[in-house]
Amino acid sequence: MSTPWHVLGAGSLGTLWATRLARAGLPVRLILRDPMRLRSYEAAGGLTLVENGQASTYAVPGETVDNPAPIRRLLVACKAYDAEEAVARLAPRLAPDAELILLQNGLGSQDAVAARVPLARCISASSTEGAFRDGAWRVVFAGHGFTWLGDAGHPVAPAWLDDLDAAKIPHEWSTDILTRLWRKLALNCAINPLTVLHDCRNGGLQQHQCEVATLCGELAELLERCGQPAAADNLQQEVERVIHATAANYSSMYQDVANRRRTEISYLLGHACTVAARHQMNLPHLSQLQQRLISHLRSRGLPSD
Ligand code: NAP
Repeated sequence: MSTPWHVLGAGSLGTLWATRLARAGLPVRLILRDPMRLRSYEAAGGLTLVENGQASTYAVPGETVDNPAPIRRLLVACKAYDAEEAVARLAPRLAPDAELILLQNGLGSQDAVAARVPLARCISASSTEGAFRDGAWRVVFAGHGFTWLGDAGHPVAPAWLDDLDAAKIPHEWSTDILTRLWRKLALNCAINPLTVLHDCRNGGLQQHQCEVATLCGELAELLERCGQPAAADNLQQEVERVIHATAANYSSMYQDVANRRRTEISYLLGHACTVAARHQMNLPHLSQLQQRLISHLRSRGLPSD
């Protein structure tokens, strides 16, 4: 029997992965935060995935963190700010050859997780798939996309990528995953905070081209200094292309703020500013953007970290 997929976090991406793996007949177990969440899940009878308007429910077995069974493969599907603590609680259950797949957006949480489980192999992912929860234990597959996976310290692809083929999860093994994560972080820093501060859809930034261009200049400088020149390549052109192509969309940060949810700012703009400070770089527009965003979040009574 193939190695079970333990999925930590039954939110949007966790459900999107768990249901597709289960549909392919692969063994999947869902790890929930406490017995109350487990009871709620069991009462619902499984995870529901809504795809092209069709809802299907999968009775993926659930368990809590305290279950004693060892874990060999763990898909970490929490938000970036929850990942480290959630994994630390599971550390005693990890088998000596455990592998973790980290789905978190941004940077910073991957290193924090890896430090908590030094013996495990940690594989980072960068995904353009989109999903959102429209009810308890129910997720809508909103945007088909692609997932890149990679391990900066060990370029050989794991054999279980076959499971992703079987589950029809579009993916590719990447030998430059850090470059991909930095590029995505830079795109996010140039677009998402401004959509919050200007209260607009992505397309609204077409009215703020100068501000976007200045930020792209500073972000490119930062990427070069971090040894990521490929991530800096034509950054401004790509930011402009994304703004145009997704003009009607609200950014994920905009949606978090509008729904009064905590943002992942510390792992996106916050991480960029921390790394700039570490390199003693003066990036005034980036750090002003961070201050403006923090003030905005505080004024709305939302966490600013
Ligand atoms: P989400 O819907 O908020 O799901 C996160 C889940 O983690 C929640 O179900 C939460 O449980 C669970 N969780 C947190 N701490 C836990 C713990 N200690 N033990 C067990 N479960 C725990 O988040 P998401 O949208 O899937 O995002 C996950 C990551 O993927 C983020 O970094 C995000 O930026 C990235 N991402 C998301 C998308 C997308 O379309 N959604 C696309 C690309 C990347 P409760 O339900 O009990 O709170």
